[in-house]
Amino acid sequence: MSFKPANKIQDLQYFGEFGGVNPSISDSATYTFLSAKKMLDTFEGHAEGCYLYSRHASPSTLYLGEALAAMEGTETANVSGSGMGAITTTMLHFCGAGDHIVSSRTIYGGTYAFLKNFAPRFNVNTSFVDITKLDVVEAAINENTKIIYCEAVSNPLLEVADIRALAQLAKKHGLKLLVDNTFSPMSISPKELDADVVLHSLTKFINGTNDTMGGVVCGTQELINSLRSVNDGAAMLLGPSLDSMRAASILKNMRTLHIRIKQHSKNALYLAKRFEDLGLKTVYPGLASHPSHELFKSMMNSAYGFGGLLTIDVGSLEKANALMELMQHENLGYLAVSLGFYKTLFSAPGTSTSSEIPEEEQIEMGLSDGLIRFSIGLDDDIERTFRMMRRCMNELGILESTKKILETV
Ligand SMILES: *Cc1c(COP(=O)(O)O)cnc(C)c1O
Repeated sequence: MSFKPANKIQDLQYFGEFGGVNPSISDSATYTFLSAKKMLDTFEGHAEGCYLYSRHASPSTLYLGEALAAMEGTETANVSGSGMGAITTTMLHFCGAGDHIVSSRTIYGGTYAFLKNFAPRFNVNTSFVDITKLDVVEAAINENTKIIYCEAVSNPLLEVADIRALAQLAKKHGLKLLVDNTFSPMSISPKELDADVVLHSLTKFINGTNDTMGGVVCGTQELINSLRSVNDGAAMLLGPSLDSMRAASILKNMRTLHIRIKQHSKNALYLAKRFEDLGLKTVYPGLASHPSHELFKSMMNSAYGFGGLLTIDVGSLEKANALMELMQHENLGYLAVSLGFYKTLFSAPGTSTSSEIPEEEQIEMGLSDGLIRFSIGLDDDIERTFRMMRRCMNELGILESTKKILETV
């Protein structure tokens, strides 16, 4: 594949107000006009290059949006104060009372809770489906359906959506395909595979330092203009705007995203292979044993690998909790939700990020009790990390039942 997201970011050149190498931060919430006429024109959307109020846009949020649009290959983008702020406003943009959504059932817990518990208050209803079964997805579409929603790589089970096929399905039925690409920035470019809208939580890999939240919707100029409309734009009226200071800091972190993603992927692939060799049930899209390994390969920008997320199953919640506590004690990472941080993070999805999903649905999805989700960090010596993790597992008797242990110690 020839799409090069990092080149697109590299080619962006912004000078600061005094010739600085970073763009100046707009330290204002409101903006003056030299004439009253110009103010009216700006409110009516006719004054190119004028700012009116920071809930709408500021120079700093526009710079960040441009960089994200460049990365995803879309016309433009609108940033927001969190991933949920981007996702919910975009859904409410496309859907009103009586409309219907077909969504993957393995999605971020917050998105699932919004669709399941909140959107029905506005008579927007969702069918949750196994997104890997295209016939099931198509059968769920009805005359009120407006969007198909999925994550490129799903949380937490790392299912991979066939974006090309879903885009065709969407086109056939006159729907929009919205893809949350939070788990696979740079590795997968959904717009290049014909998705209509690409969403991200910037809080994760894109920012990478876990010091702020952010979100983005990447799409056509027409979509972004209507999201920002002062009269009826969901982003403008619901107000999930991002602060300029944070927009500026996320933009700087984006300049190293390609290097970080490569290292996250390299480390995760190494650990996934070694965990699998130990006989642990390991899920990672880079493993040949992953059901969507070939599909991921057919969609990926190969330089960036299969991402930084993997899961293992250690058999029970007690063992999972003990292992995570011990690994944190040994300074191998943090027992914390979230992902895309420079240090490794681990959590048990069933009792944390996916706890919004009812237990029987968790079981049906394959979300077992002993599951640990790892977001692998930027460790320089990943072999040392593996040896330390294996020692923790041995200490807790987690590897006793796996027969390969003697061969690999
Ligand atoms: C974290 C996350 C979100 C929500 O983003 P916030 O920035 O926490 O609001 C949405 N989708 C996925 C896949 C996520 O991991």
